[in-house]
Amino acid sequence: MNALAATNRNFRRAARILGLDSRIEKSLLIPFREIKVECTIPKDDGTLVSYVGFRVQHDNSRGPMKGGIRYHPEVDPDEVNALAQLMTWKTAVADTPYGGAKGGIGCKPKDLSNSELERLTRVFTQKIHDLIGVNRDVPAPDMGTNAQTMAWILDEYSKFHGHSPAVVTGKPIDLGGSLGREAATGRGVIYATEALLAEYGKSIKDLTFAIQGFGNVGSWAARLIHGRGGKVIAVSDITGAVKNPNGIDIPILLNHKEATGSLKNFDGGDAMHPNELLLHKCDVLIPCALGGVINRENADNVRAKFIVEAANHPTDPEADEILSKKGVIILPDIYANSGGVTVSYFEWVQNIQGFMWDEEKVNKELHRYMTKAFGNIKSMCQTHNCNLRMGAFTLGVDRVARATVLRGWEA
Ligand code: GLU
Repeated sequence: MNALAATNRNFRRAARILGLDSRIEKSLLIPFREIKVECTIPKDDGTLVSYVGFRVQHDNSRGPMKGGIRYHPEVDPDEVNALAQLMTWKTAVADTPYGGAKGGIGCKPKDLSNSELERLTRVFTQKIHDLIGVNRDVPAPDMGTNAQTMAWILDEYSKFHGHSPAVVTGKPIDLGGSLGREAATGRGVIYATEALLAEYGKSIKDLTFAIQGFGNVGSWAARLIHGRGGKVIAVSDITGAVKNPNGIDIPILLNHKEATGSLKNFDGGDAMHPNELLLHKCDVLIPCALGGVINRENADNVRAKFIVEAANHPTDPEADEILSKKGVIILPDIYANSGGVTVSYFEWVQNIQGFMWDEEKVNKELHRYMTKAFGNIKSMCQTHNCNLRMGAFTLGVDRVARATVLRGWEA
């Protein structure tokens, strides 16, 4: 099932549970604005190459639209639409004063030099600069982009509008980025996992974990689990996969990846095929990579007791049903990975205040937001007798629908 069909299906299900006015349901399915732009740049050898850039602004009833910019070959209009919609529910679940948006460029960032990436980012910013803004739409990093990408966007945007640090989040610290933002999504995943496990009287130190993806989110999640005494027994990324039933020494694996650029040839565990990762027997499976990886083809063979969705839409609705029949507990993406956008919110607040928080305050506030959101989701689950995904969706959709009505829906 494609990402948009899956996201719409979850949204419609939540709308039905809430008894949402069908006119509001329809309006929330249609994005506020979809932008598609041509980005042509000269390559380092002088030849011209064209890419397509997207920004989908899904909803702004709760505040400026917010969401990452992804550089990846699989970026397409449906995927960006789905991710923009998920941001609307995610920012509402986190109770940040934002709507949702997402952007991306269909490209392979690893095949581009640093100066080509800079040119591409600047051209994209030139094409969308009058549609983003501190109080309008605030981009952030996502797959294939990072703090440097945000620095280029900030610089290009500021040429048109004057210095505006709050126009993007996830910036380098030297340009007004927040302490703790780099680790925030992974840290949020851990706070969310702790909130979930506490419900079952369990804690990280007693459990085994398998992690798909060893980029920003996966590596931070792994590091924090290891630091809490949990056993990370399998890790994979596009370069390979490694397993060790006694627990992988994550700091050593991080050094190995840093030194070799790959998970291959790591002597602190046995190599395995990356496709086996999702099927590896463990207590907690954490997908931290692409969407749709758990689907009807493999769901029946998943052997984890809990799935914590650090990636966006890793589990499609058909897999959801299969897993729920098997009794697997799934902590949904729009809550589990909301730590990134929550600290983005703190960064935006700091930029507007012109005041920098220390890292302890950032992490403490993140913990408070993640714990509160979990409590709010649980109450929705109780009220509507539904699972955690529908608890999170009904929470997000209800908050957005209320804001829509309060702003004057019928005039
Ligand atoms: N790209 C991240 C996400 O999918 C962060 C978005 C943000 O900070 O605005 O949630």
